[in-house]
Amino acid sequence: MPSIGKSITNLAGIILADYPLCNWCLGRQFPSIKGDSNEVKGKMIRKEVKVKTKKGSCFICQDSMQSLKENSAKILEQLKDYEFDDFLIGAKLPKDFMEREDSLRAKFKLRGGEAIKSEITKEIGKIIASKTGKRVNFRKPNMTILVNLVSGEIDLNPKPLFVYGRYLKMVRGFPQKRRKCRNCRGKGCSECEYTGFSKEQSVEQILAQNLIKRFDAKGAKFTWIGGESSESLVLGNGRPFYAEIVKPKLRHTDESEMLEENGIILKKIKIVDEIPKKSPNFMVKVSAHIKFAEEIDEEKLYVLKEKLQNSEVKVVPLKKKPFTKKIYEFDVEMINEREAKATFKCDGGLNIKRFISSSNSDVGKYLLEITPNVSEVIGMKADCDTFDILDVEVLNE
Ligand SMILES: [Zn+2]
Ligand SMILES: [Zn+2]
Repeated sequence: MPSIGKSITNLAGIILADYPLCNWCLGRQFPSIKGDSNEVKGKMIRKEVKVKTKKGSCFICQDSMQSLKENSAKILEQLKDYEFDDFLIGAKLPKDFMEREDSLRAKFKLRGGEAIKSEITKEIGKIIASKTGKRVNFRKPNMTILVNLVSGEIDLNPKPLFVYGRYLKMVRGFPQKRRKCRNCRGKGCSECEYTGFSKEQSVEQILAQNLIKRFDAKGAKFTWIGGESSESLVLGNGRPFYAEIVKPKLRHTDESEMLEENGIILKKIKIVDEIPKKSPNFMVKVSAHIKFAEEIDEEKLYVLKEKLQNSEVKVVPLKKKPFTKKIYEFDVEMINEREAKATFKCDGGLNIKRFISSSNSDVGKYLLEITPNVSEVIGMKADCDTFDILDVEVLNE
């Protein structure tokens, strides 16, 4: 055992005569001594001190350092349910712990010792690392563990997981996005099982339930690449989307897993590093059912096709900057003298119904102007009741 200098023994004696300290908090004040841990160092120093020391709970930590091992065991128990590669420990501590340590250090001119908080996180980190074989990561841990030694509270915060996937919608009649719970307006209540969302069927609701179950998570937040209406089908390769999985216990997915539920097919999803800040450029292939206010004929439809094929349309949203969208292929087939089916490929993000109806539509009449549009080109009121997404093509996917 290395010897401890007389000056340290003397100083320790003077401190301990008035301030009871636990071994951890004693050892921590003497960084020049070598030892496996501050607890070991504290024990060594105490052995050498021959004067009468004051009894009582530790002046700095009120003996909460004693619960370090017990809390680490509790953390290990809770961590069993989680998949993670690396972690970081954070400690919550009442301010007066630090204040008492600072005042003691000022009074006895104790320098260079580490702070109680960093000792706690370091020591717990060591235990967790040795028992789990995972390493501490200060920059981007996928598990952050917050511990309060005083209350014994442990908070596990797995980093969110990001996934990219595509879905097909084979049934009409429910929306893409879920609505906020009407009872609590999104705050979370017993009616919505504290999700904040209505349990009504929607693409989002079905996907969210699946992802939450798959990753044993608390929630899923979606970033859509385009949208469709309640009446639309989504076919082909499906519509792509990103999702943030909130507090996942699992961090892997079986590539072959596929879900089919209530007409929604979730194709294989992959885990990605992040959700891109800017939505990727994409094109959609659409099939739209059009109703005309007056009679049409093949000639009129031919003009429509010629005018809109390989064209550019200008979109003027209310109170926002105008932008353009390209129409690539455009074909239209007559169903009868009042109805036709248009099949076209265009830039993603074009409002399909408005592109067909213009401001003749009662829906969102003044919100958006698209020119040219089907109504305008054919010279009569045209309406789109349903459209289907035949495919979505993402550039650089
Ligand atoms: Zn202590
Ligand atoms: Zn609610």
